[in-house]
Amino acid sequence: MQSTALPTLFLSHGSPMHALQPGAVRAVWEGIARDLPRPKAILIASAHWETNLPALTGVAQPETIHDFYGFPKALYEIQYPAKGSPELASRSVGLLKQFGLQAKEDPIRGLDHGAWSPLLHMYPKADVPVVQVAVQAPLGPRHHLELGRALAPLAEEGVLIIGSGHMTHNLRERNNGAPAAYASEFQAWVKEKIEARDFDSLVNYRELNPHGVRAHPTDEHFLPLFVALGAAGRNYRAERLYDGIEMGSLAMDAYLFR
Ligand code: ZN
Repeated sequence: MQSTALPTLFLSHGSPMHALQPGAVRAVWEGIARDLPRPKAILIASAHWETNLPALTGVAQPETIHDFYGFPKALYEIQYPAKGSPELASRSVGLLKQFGLQAKEDPIRGLDHGAWSPLLHMYPKADVPVVQVAVQAPLGPRHHLELGRALAPLAEEGVLIIGSGHMTHNLRERNNGAPAAYASEFQAWVKEKIEARDFDSLVNYRELNPHGVRAHPTDEHFLPLFVALGAAGRNYRAERLYDGIEMGSLAMDAYLFR
């Protein structure tokens, strides 16, 4: 059962339309999958699944959830038929419990677009098993850092741990204009703190960064970053692979932590 240790990833998944029209980020997502050793499974935390306590999809064949409204029919026809991994889900629950985090496997939940939209481009054959992890917004960033730390041993065993959210996510400020200054300033601040491994500043981003609340009116889309950071350990080296800003204010940063 010898397997290669894998880096962890943070991806900004974009709107559901990125499944059909990913634009410039497509090459980044494809390149990540091409350059990494093949994972034995994927564990992906999505901003679109919120629970009170940590939860993981425990189904053998997760359904493709179309968790959005008013999009073109073609988007609703997409299926991402990756298998689940009840074994990985139950091992994850065990790791979380060892860490003092109560967690459960969900016997019904499938994959939402936060998971399948980037995976569709990374692993188009859907031939790597996928387990999705929920976020617990009321518990805040530090909880998600702990969640990631608890799951870190899996990366050593060849599981690709991904946090799928957004670098900035103020949907009310979407427009067709040039990138907003606050969004690029927030990107730059986060990059600096990530590179300095300054976890304390990052978890307190809403208080410490003047744009924190504007960048994330609610923080569920930022929380997957902390899962990826936590799973990367305390001595990672970060690479930002993409930093495009779409619709004026939606920063699409992708990070790899190794
Ligand atoms: Zn989203």
